[in-house]
Amino acid sequence: MDSITIIQFGAAILGMGGLCLCVVSATNRRLRGLRWLTAAFATGFLCAIFMLMPRQLPNWPIIPADCLALIAFALLHVAVMEMMGSHKRLSRVSLILLALTAAADVAQILNAHFMVLRFIAVSLIIATQCLATGVFLLKTARRHEKPPAYFCAFILLFFATFNIIRAGLIATRHLHQGRWDILIYNFTYALYIAVALGLAFGYFWMSTTQLSSQLEYMAGTDPLTRLYNRRMFLDACEREVSNLNSKRTTFSILMVDLDHFKKINDGFGHSVGDAALVAAVEAMQNATRGSDVLARWGGEEFAALLPNADHIAAYIVAERIRTNVENVEMTASPIEQQEQSRVRLTASIGLATYQNGDDIQSLLRRADRGLYQAKNAGRNRVLIAPSLGELPLSAM
Ligand code: GH3
Ligand code: MG
Ligand code: MG
Repeated sequence: MDSITIIQFGAAILGMGGLCLCVVSATNRRLRGLRWLTAAFATGFLCAIFMLMPRQLPNWPIIPADCLALIAFALLHVAVMEMMGSHKRLSRVSLILLALTAAADVAQILNAHFMVLRFIAVSLIIATQCLATGVFLLKTARRHEKPPAYFCAFILLFFATFNIIRAGLIATRHLHQGRWDILIYNFTYALYIAVALGLAFGYFWMSTTQLSSQLEYMAGTDPLTRLYNRRMFLDACEREVSNLNSKRTTFSILMVDLDHFKKINDGFGHSVGDAALVAAVEAMQNATRGSDVLARWGGEEFAALLPNADHIAAYIVAERIRTNVENVEMTASPIEQQEQSRVRLTASIGLATYQNGDDIQSLLRRADRGLYQAKNAGRNRVLIAPSLGELPLSAM
């Protein structure tokens, strides 16, 4: 196959690909970076068109073609940055590389002797842009994004290495010697097509990974407080039970209910109620460790799983939660009043510690009973459900 046929094939792939991406991005605005990837494909298509133009005027399509090839990779870099959550646009590195590409092209137009130098420069410039994007992907990929990110980074780093080797071959005059020369150039064009297809595949792989992890996050968390929901909490409890062994002998559960919360809604309005819930959650989070699991059980009720905590350790945490909630400093204007007044928050807490023979449901029932007793005893207190021989600490 000759070079022209390969470039025509490349133009068809990039043109069709760009068109398909355009349709997807017009109908699906949630896919991050897709507009930039579409622009990269369109630019790559234009680059191929310029390369196919008859060269009656010596060298004139060189500048647009070289610059467009680099712009396509620079746009890809922006697509990758947006996909990984960065809000930056064209990087300074890309702009410098673009200026260097244009300079190398102008040098060749002014002096044909610079042709070899231009080939070397453009290969190294494309390699640098690909390296920058590949390294960015490797550095920013989160745990669940690693397989698609590493796949795209591998393609980019491979392509960068190929371009560096090609520049080296040109510099040491191993190319421009007939048959090998044409073969390597044809291979380069074919590689451009493979890289475009590989990166488009990598992009959709990455997008589906990101969307499914977002879905998982949304299905497992409460949108107001960003805490785990009941389902995730029960999963964590099941895991904790199956983790019990010689090292982890027990764990405790707290049921936390904000006191007289309805009065806050009635007195200050629902939005202040929402803000109070968020403030209470922050206070609870400040009272727990990273290994503890805090969840919104429903409404103004929360649950906490305290791994490795017996009833004494759990009581200390529960008391810390109670005092932190009590000390929340929040002011708001009551409905139909101008002046601000303090939004007072307190919490009642029921505590249950795992004992042999327990299952999650019996444990939760005991914590709930503790909570019920804390409410009955006057609220704003911690109570351990008195069962299986436990004594409420407040009674010690
Ligand atoms: P108790 O001390 O007995 O727990 O009294 P309470 O008023 O806290 O309990 P009750 O069950 O009577 O009322 C719970 C209130 O919590 C009523 C409901 O409107 C409010 N609530 C539940 N979820 C939300 C929420 O997401 N936002 C707001 N603002 N209020 C909520
Ligand atoms: Mg309540
Ligand atoms: Mg309640």
